[in-house]
Amino acid sequence: MNILVTNDDGIYSQGLKVLVEEASAFGDVYVAAPTEEKSACGHGITVRSPIKIYKKTLYDLAVESYGIEGTPADCVKIAKQFLVDKNIDLVLSGVNRGANLGTDIIYSGTVAGATEGFIIGIDSIAFSIDGLNITSYELARKAINEIISEKILNKKTNKIVLYNVNIPNIPPEEFKGYKYTRLGQRIYNNEFLRRQDPWGNDYFWLGGDVVSIPENDSNYDTGAINNGFVSVTPLNVDLTNFEILLKK
Ligand code: MN
Repeated sequence: MNILVTNDDGIYSQGLKVLVEEASAFGDVYVAAPTEEKSACGHGITVRSPIKIYKKTLYDLAVESYGIEGTPADCVKIAKQFLVDKNIDLVLSGVNRGANLGTDIIYSGTVAGATEGFIIGIDSIAFSIDGLNITSYELARKAINEIISEKILNKKTNKIVLYNVNIPNIPPEEFKGYKYTRLGQRIYNNEFLRRQDPWGNDYFWLGGDVVSIPENDSNYDTGAINNGFVSVTPLNVDLTNFEILLKK
């Protein structure tokens, strides 16, 4: 099996290393990831500037790796057309530092990397771990292994699949299992901070306190990770509002 790995935290992020190490057990891994962090770039693509590609050596990992001056979506497109001369069977994106839950996935470069794989007809999975201070990747490693093997062994559909996986930042002893979930909502209060530069000019910085809705219902991704589950949300890219479309 040929596996393409990308991310939005940049090619040298710890989470990408973890994902590559675990994915290597399942086949030949290729890395095409942004040279710089592209978090929150959404499904952006680069159309107004040239994109350069650099061959990289990633630690002691024996994988063909490319750093790309572009977004995760660029990386997957370029890898398919130029960098991997075999059929790509699986696209993996992550492991992102920070959860990608509910409405936030619209902004996520990590999810976009996987979504691009899905759009071009490849089974794809995005992995994110909750929290910005990640104490251990032990549960993430377990989840990557078990989700990839389940996908390979027990694929329940003949259609191409896209999964968004969120892993709680807890030790494996506290892990409750896997939950198939639907997307919740993430709402930010006091989104922008207004501050002043040394010359008295206002500037604005995106931040704010996040509210997850629902917070405790494990049928939703936003609730599942709070209850110790690894959340697996099957995604689609068809944003059609069928409720309105089909209204008589
Ligand atoms: Mn990121």
